[in-house]
Amino acid sequence: MVKVMQCWDDGTIGDARLTEILRKYNAKATFNLNPDYHGETRGEQRWVGINEPGWSFKGFRDGKLGKNELREIYGGFQVASHCMKHECAGAVPDDVFIKSALDARHYLEDLFGQSCPGFAWPCGRYTQETADALLEAGFAYGRTTQNAERISECEHPMILHSSCHFHDGQFYQKYENAKAGDGLFYFWGHTFENMDSEGLWNQLEMKIKYISEDPDATWVNLCDIDWKNAIASTKA
Ligand SMILES: [Zn+2]
Repeated sequence: MVKVMQCWDDGTIGDARLTEILRKYNAKATFNLNPDYHGETRGEQRWVGINEPGWSFKGFRDGKLGKNELREIYGGFQVASHCMKHECAGAVPDDVFIKSALDARHYLEDLFGQSCPGFAWPCGRYTQETADALLEAGFAYGRTTQNAERISECEHPMILHSSCHFHDGQFYQKYENAKAGDGLFYFWGHTFENMDSEGLWNQLEMKIKYISEDPDATWVNLCDIDWKNAIASTKA
């Protein structure tokens, strides 16, 4: 048996397409959001020239979803703090970072009427001090961008590695390894990494379908696992 978790960062327009796929296969997911970066309405999604200033992924610019649609698009899924403005631990003073992590959590809890104890480290950056402080502040787990063969063997619930990124070439192998291992499989990514490539979107849909059709698999939310205990039990 395997408990399967997934999470997606940054709240871009591609998430709207993904949530339709997830609903089709009854899959659970957590979306890590930066509340201050969402405008009132949806941003733009288009290919930009290489000389055009501003952010893009390989030339594909995926704007943020609008505040006016967040509840509808993410309804029924978990949302979690990714800081208000994607602040990176160690790059801003610790008190500023921790306030931003908590402000995002409280904003999302108010907007969605759900408890949001999850966290994903912007840029994958963390420090021991900020990890300890966020645990102290009541967060249940914090996801890095590193991989672990057995995620239950992480040292600290706020320094939780995932099994793999969703584009990992060994995705299915790592899934089978998790089934044979500690029974926890966790993948993550950004939907903008699929750009508007039908091939990449189909590959992702096949992964979701494969897991949903596996009788040995159960989709769970990250925050359904008691990470402190899950980690401690592997050290007993
Ligand atoms: Zn991010």
